[in-house]
Amino acid sequence: MSQVVDTVTTGPHDEALVANCCPRDWVNPEPASRYNLVVIGGGTAGLVTAAGAAGLGARVALIERGRLGGDCLNVGCVPSKALIRAAHAAADVRDAGDFGVVVPAGVHVDFAAVMERMRRVRAGISQHDSAERFRDLGVDVFLGAARFTGPETVTVSGKALRFRRACIATGARAAALPIPGLAEAGYLTNETVFDLTELPRRLAVIGAGPIGCELAQAFARFGAQVTVLEVAPRILIREEERAAAIIQQSLIADGVRLMAGAKIEGISTANGGKRIRIRTGGIEEHVEVDEILVGVGRAPNVDGLGLEAARVEYDPTAGVRVDDFLRTSNPRIYAAGDICSAFKFTHTADAQARIVIQNALFRGRARNSTLTIPWATYTDPEIAHVGIDGQEAAIRGLAVRAFTQGMDGVDRAILDGETRGFATVWVEQDSDRIVGATVIARHAGDLISEIGAAMTGGLGLGTLAKTIHPYPTQAEVWKKIADAYNRTRLTPRVKRWMERWFAWTR
Ligand SMILES: Cc1cc2nc3c(=O)[nH]c(=O)nc-3n(C[C@H](O)[C@H](O)[C@H](O)COP(=O)(O)OP(=O)(O)OC[C@H]3O[C@@H](n4cnc5c(N)ncnc54)[C@H](O)[C@@H]3O)c2cc1C
Repeated sequence: MSQVVDTVTTGPHDEALVANCCPRDWVNPEPASRYNLVVIGGGTAGLVTAAGAAGLGARVALIERGRLGGDCLNVGCVPSKALIRAAHAAADVRDAGDFGVVVPAGVHVDFAAVMERMRRVRAGISQHDSAERFRDLGVDVFLGAARFTGPETVTVSGKALRFRRACIATGARAAALPIPGLAEAGYLTNETVFDLTELPRRLAVIGAGPIGCELAQAFARFGAQVTVLEVAPRILIREEERAAAIIQQSLIADGVRLMAGAKIEGISTANGGKRIRIRTGGIEEHVEVDEILVGVGRAPNVDGLGLEAARVEYDPTAGVRVDDFLRTSNPRIYAAGDICSAFKFTHTADAQARIVIQNALFRGRARNSTLTIPWATYTDPEIAHVGIDGQEAAIRGLAVRAFTQGMDGVDRAILDGETRGFATVWVEQDSDRIVGATVIARHAGDLISEIGAAMTGGLGLGTLAKTIHPYPTQAEVWKKIADAYNRTRLTPRVKRWMERWFAWTR
């Protein structure tokens, strides 16, 4: 019998998920004499690597110690976006009066039903990542914790697997926070928050990064009193200031209490709740809550992997060290996804897996640095970004021009009542070549792909100006920006020439 680490469930949908991603009766196969590729970790990076390699005919083993699907399916993107969808529904009902739709009884969120729906849709999606499906794709699936025992061997549940190449795709987990009293008081992370069945009446969210902001807004819309505690002077510190300011206003409008520049000095239990002692400036304050959710960054899963035995260099904070070909210090071993990437996103894990397949199995020279990686934060409105912004361009000594359009000038956004936000595109000073874009809009995560595709294909704003966008859509924001760029080509000299031409042809 395999060593299955995680089979705790909270109902029939979780049972279905476990049956797919961590089946209790799974029997690990007998290992092949040697594998072309052994993949450690069955999250997005590992699954894409294993499926791709097996599809090409390689002999592949995939090892997962918890649930296949990794963070994204089980405790990340999928459950969080399912909750955010429910939170959108609650906000739409709350704001229905703006559209002349009267909801006499107001909003009532049945939190247990929200969580039940999340578990149902997550269980449905889990079929894509099931152990059985991967076995059918020709992958030897081993459930259990993997550990390197040498530069070309790994063991799982007492079985030794020899490999020609290996890929470390063990991901990351919630970073620990050394606050006095936190562990004793108890707290939630992304690994436990989706197991809730009752809405905490008062919730403190520590950390105002993407995960903290997304979940703070969702829980506030469900009816919890949410306080966000952030040590930095503002929320979403990695985003442009004016973009973060829009999200800040939106969170406050949803009833979230934001405390930025707040240093947490200690936590104790009191009156059945948790008491957080905070210092903001010179002032000490207390916040009492029922639950604390910690979302302060990610720590790579390097422990217990035997990386020393494999001669793989790593840093306990930054993860496994890789070169631009995603190769580790052991030339037989590659890495992909959160374990080695500064961009901790599912789509990056997927893209890096494809690089590993090329480079590890075919001596390819695909480079990580050539990826154009977008990212999105799924607050309402959303923030999405790709490439570099004006500040980064200045650091790199690159002269750029910025073109900005407010969503309040886009007809579809006006019609939808979704005018909060703007889009900016940066182009090289003397051409229409796009170097980056930011968009804040209700559907920014979808909108950014057009710019990502343009950057990948080397298309400039001139081409976007020629692209016909259906009317009315929010994607017309790019067309407006491209038109603004085109207008700059009408220099005073060209204009004078045109005036002469029209005078002559009248
Ligand atoms: C709350 C939250 C929301 C998110 N939302 C988004 C989003 O909307 N969009 C987005 O793009 N990204 C999002 N992310 C990030 C995304 O989940 C990760 O970037 C993605 O899951 C990384 O995939 P991975 O394969 O590198 O790692 P993981 O998904 O972490 O998978 C690694 C796997 O390796 C296994 N493993 C670890 N050690 C061993 C071992 N020794 N032996 C065997 N197996 C091992 C783990 O059990 C795990 O299953 C979110 C993350 C969180 C936490």
